[in-house]
Amino acid sequence: MSDETVLITGCSSGIGRATAEQFLDEGWTVYATSRDESDIADLDESGCRTATLDVTEDDDVARVVDRIEDEQGGLDCLVNNAGYGLYGPLEDIPAEKLHDQFDVNVYGPHRLTRAALPLLREAEGTICNVSSVQGRLSVPGAGAYSGSKFALEAMSDALRAEVDPFDVEVVLVEPGPVETNFQDRAATESDSLVPGTEYDWVYDSIEDATTVSGSLPIAVTPAEVATTIHDAASVSEPDPRYPVKRFARLAVATRFLPDSVRDSVFRLVRRFA
Ligand code: NAP
Repeated sequence: MSDETVLITGCSSGIGRATAEQFLDEGWTVYATSRDESDIADLDESGCRTATLDVTEDDDVARVVDRIEDEQGGLDCLVNNAGYGLYGPLEDIPAEKLHDQFDVNVYGPHRLTRAALPLLREAEGTICNVSSVQGRLSVPGAGAYSGSKFALEAMSDALRAEVDPFDVEVVLVEPGPVETNFQDRAATESDSLVPGTEYDWVYDSIEDATTVSGSLPIAVTPAEVATTIHDAASVSEPDPRYPVKRFARLAVATRFLPDSVRDSVFRLVRRFA
């Protein structure tokens, strides 16, 4: 059992919810947060401390971190999990939607990190950023989402070196497809775009991916991702990156292919679409 404290964003479903349950099972004091606190009332009943936190709202972030300081006096782990996927051909994505994507997936973790670092420094704690294999590999239709996760990866690499003198760890967890609501939100976001006439094959591949990817045999469960996050937060010298299970390890390795080979594969996909 542990006497440590963790703050997790995006606990209403999927990976965030499973991560709150996992840390609670391991005896941590868990601050589980969600945009709508009523979505996590059951986590409150299970023993989590719950709070409203929209990662795009500075006031929410400050209020929750202040509360943790008041109640616990410190913080051992921050899990930046909240996020969603905006899929679509880049020509069809308005700047405002791209901004919203980065506001949640990039500026959100940055807001939380800045607010929590004084407490994490004190505790020599861990920041765990939930990225994706698409934070290492960008494919047609995923430019906005991949752009946000590549940014999260780049910022995590810089931050790791910056906070190294304080013994604060920064890790990236990189799942492939996970059985969550992620694809539902991705489909809604994609449907909200006004399609141009040029990219039917991109929309078709997005539709195929959002329909099936969560139920593919390669998909992992939220609990498996939660275990990876908990393990990364619990070891004294974590790896910088944790691709989750075999498919994710293979997928991130494809970034070592020459760009021309990857482009040829995308060309083939387009021809057969
Ligand atoms: P999910 O079930 O849709 O959960 C996403 C969570 O993020 C929800 O709790 C959602 O809350 C929250 N969220 C969205 N916008 C927010 C905001 N502005 N402020 C606070 N919370 C917000 O999907 P998931 O798969 O668990 O996704 C969790 C993370 O895993 C994301 O960062 C995602 O990019 C990453 N990931 C997912 C997959 C996958 O295939 N599922 C693969 C790789 C990486 P609401 O209920 O309020 O919207």
